[in-house]
Amino acid sequence: MTDCCIIGGGIIGLSIARELAGRGARVRVLARGGRRDTASWAGVGIFPPAPEWAGCGSYAALTAWSDRLHRQWAVELLAETGIDNGLRPCGGLYVATAAGVDRLHAAARDWRARGAECHELDADGLAACEPALADAIGRGVVAGGILLPAEQSFRSPRHLEALEASCRLRAAVVTHEAAVRDVLRSRGGVEGVVAEVAGTVETVRARHFVLAAGAWTGTLGEKFGLRIETRPIRGQILLLQLPRPVLTRIVNLGLHYLVPREDGHLLVGSTLEDAGFVPETTDAAIARLRMVAHDLLGDVARVQPTRTWAGLRPGTVDGLPTIGAVPGLDNAFVAAGHFRAGLHQSTGTAVLIADLIQGQRPPVDPAAFAADRPPAPPSDDSVAAYLARAAAESA
Ligand SMILES: Cc1cc2nc3c(=O)[nH]c(=O)nc-3n(C[C@H](O)[C@H](O)[C@H](O)COP(=O)(O)OP(=O)(O)OC[C@H]3O[C@@H](n4cnc5c(N)ncnc54)[C@H](O)[C@@H]3O)c2cc1C
Repeated sequence: MTDCCIIGGGIIGLSIARELAGRGARVRVLARGGRRDTASWAGVGIFPPAPEWAGCGSYAALTAWSDRLHRQWAVELLAETGIDNGLRPCGGLYVATAAGVDRLHAAARDWRARGAECHELDADGLAACEPALADAIGRGVVAGGILLPAEQSFRSPRHLEALEASCRLRAAVVTHEAAVRDVLRSRGGVEGVVAEVAGTVETVRARHFVLAAGAWTGTLGEKFGLRIETRPIRGQILLLQLPRPVLTRIVNLGLHYLVPREDGHLLVGSTLEDAGFVPETTDAAIARLRMVAHDLLGDVARVQPTRTWAGLRPGTVDGLPTIGAVPGLDNAFVAAGHFRAGLHQSTGTAVLIADLIQGQRPPVDPAAFAADRPPAPPSDDSVAAYLARAAAESA
């Protein structure tokens, strides 16, 4: 019998599958679409520095722990599968106009107080760091910024490919085009799930079930008696092929960013839109992203887009993911709602869920992520706060 059936083939589901299969469990993953139909594939893979400091909350502790695990997993995945997920400490610049520089400098003090290396830069310092910004500095679009040398990035499509290959090497079964439609419940637990697999109906029975269906978790969770919100928050991305690589670091301007690849590709992101379950790009948003690239890099960014795409982040009311047992069921768990940080927090989430399933004490206290946690007042990390920031920036 399958030990664990995981519903969802994004980074959260595949990471949990890899971790459990590595511990000897027989694992089955059911994923409704292909890898490209996930927020995980669409995501950019920026990992800001992840310090842990005395008295930091569970969210920062989960991120810090995940960050350490990512370094380990990148090495293991390369050794196991031969796939390099591209995890690199490229560094991140956060830039602003004259009106926004003070706020960035205050953020720099916060970063240092938490133990992260962070440097304030004036216009000359920025231009020395990234000469391609000289044009934007000359036009007053950028007046100063901060440098976070420990910011990292990875290539999420490559990471997903490596995760899936690692799962298979560990004898986990990953089935794509397998949509879970129903849940068979009995005496305080789940007996099985009914899935439509390539046109046929299959009942999958297992000892444990994990619901990791990203933005779709809220709706599917109702069949488990679970009441959580995972609101789909669309993010659109524009990919440009520049004639030559012009940046070495990630450049963040408000909620927008430029992420350079070594081959001259440049990712320009992103939007934050409450637009329902519609993972499609729009002309207006792509035009705005082209403008951001042009504002920061000038004419060098005036090239035709190579590709555009969109994904649906799973957003939650309080900005925290839900990771833990499904209340009222003794063999069902949920791991969803990671919003803007699911790529980063995937490794820690996987170990946390595996520990909970196996009755071990996880290194991070999971209480803050419980499905039945009391409603928290909306924070700066909540979906509502981010949507308000995005609206203010595009006004
Ligand atoms: C544009 C963009 C940029 C981002 N940038 C970053 C970043 O820089 N850093 C970062 O950490 N995070 C980033 N994120 C957020 C990150 O991508 C998400 O938090 C993360 O991918 C969520 O992973 P997931 O596995 O929960 O969901 P998903 O990747 O969406 O996977 C959900 C899975 O559930 C499956 N599913 C749904 N319903 C069913 C069903 N009924 N039956 C079976 N399977 C089902 C889907 O098919 C899919 O396989 C970004 C997201 C976007 C959109």
